[in-house]
Amino acid sequence: MLDMACRCCGGRNVELVIDLTDQPHCNRLVRVDLPAKTEPHYPLRVGFCRDCTMVQIDHTIPKESMFSDYPYVSGTTKTLPAHFAATSRRIADAYGLGPDDLVVDIGSNDGTWLKQYAPFGCQVLGVEAAGNVAKLAQDAGIRTWSRFFNEDCAKDVIAQFGHAKVVTAAGVFFHLEELHSVVRGIEQLLTPDGVFVVQAIYLGGMVENTAFDQVYHEHLCYYTLRSLSALLERHGMEVFDAHLEPIHGGSIEAHVARKGSRLVQPSIAAMRADEVTKGFGEIATYQQLARNVLALQQKLVALLQDYAARGKTVWAYGAPAKGATLLNSFGIGPALVQQAVERNPMKVGLAIPGCRIPIALEQDGVSPDAYLVLAWNFIDEFLKNPANIAFMAGGGEFIVPVPKVLVVGAGGARQV
Ligand SMILES: [Zn+2]
Repeated sequence: MLDMACRCCGGRNVELVIDLTDQPHCNRLVRVDLPAKTEPHYPLRVGFCRDCTMVQIDHTIPKESMFSDYPYVSGTTKTLPAHFAATSRRIADAYGLGPDDLVVDIGSNDGTWLKQYAPFGCQVLGVEAAGNVAKLAQDAGIRTWSRFFNEDCAKDVIAQFGHAKVVTAAGVFFHLEELHSVVRGIEQLLTPDGVFVVQAIYLGGMVENTAFDQVYHEHLCYYTLRSLSALLERHGMEVFDAHLEPIHGGSIEAHVARKGSRLVQPSIAAMRADEVTKGFGEIATYQQLARNVLALQQKLVALLQDYAARGKTVWAYGAPAKGATLLNSFGIGPALVQQAVERNPMKVGLAIPGCRIPIALEQDGVSPDAYLVLAWNFIDEFLKNPANIAFMAGGGEFIVPVPKVLVVGAGGARQV
């Protein structure tokens, strides 16, 4: 057992299933000249609660140290704004959003999602803890508070703007250290018929894709419909509709209301049954995931060693947070992957912590023999990029590490 109380139910039956060893905070990029191993390392261990089935990590890095200055900006890929545009239209249509309604987005990042509500004329408010990212949203004209969302914040929003018809949270709901205060705040903030729409990486997708690289210190909990429902029910709310979205390699979108206020849709029983069939509430499923991660490591490291032995250069294509987990868990450093290239200027000139792979600016016409695609969830977008098509036509290859190790070139994809 891990020495912790379950983040959801408070029980002390959280059993270790995957130990990814001590790692630095994945988004705390470091200066290239920082002496080796001097950045703080913390345990990165995944546990399964035998009482409520919540899968979670045990070590919490204080949120102020992780989120006050944040290098991830939603707007830097094309996939995310399109995804948010489609989602906001669905929400606006389903709940009849109009000029009198308030939408609050928790962890609103650079305002990418809230911008999409402009056609519906509703009031919007973003709550974003990272001051540097909140400023990007403010500069773009999206009203944004730079603070952590919790019960106190909800009270302040109500005092200033009234209650919210819709509260959204995308890609942040697993970050939340003050989980119960956040859920209480959402419950209070909603109008009587209000709806909370949460998108989070789906644990079921992580299991099926061996997407262990979604495990990092910012992600405290990993949800199934069952475990998410258990958390919300503790605060008088229930999931009344849910479906899976392909974003981030598989996410769950859950629509939540006060218990009994909305008709529970057939999607709930269907997804719950599917989770039972697939064993997502069983510890054995996560013990198998740990074995699958080990097998992935052996294949990927052997492949990279083969490239190195043949004198081929390999660069990381992008330096996302999940990339740090993959590289540090697998012990991959500059000997196998010489550098990472990025479009995000906030990352260029720094190094990925732990493995210390330096991050350079992505430049047209300058490429290695192969790219390791750390942001494998965006591979379809990358492969449509004309520059990447030209790269492959010239003999270049993409190495995709997850869900299976693939080498993609002009001749197609080859599984390793
Ligand atoms: Zn529990």
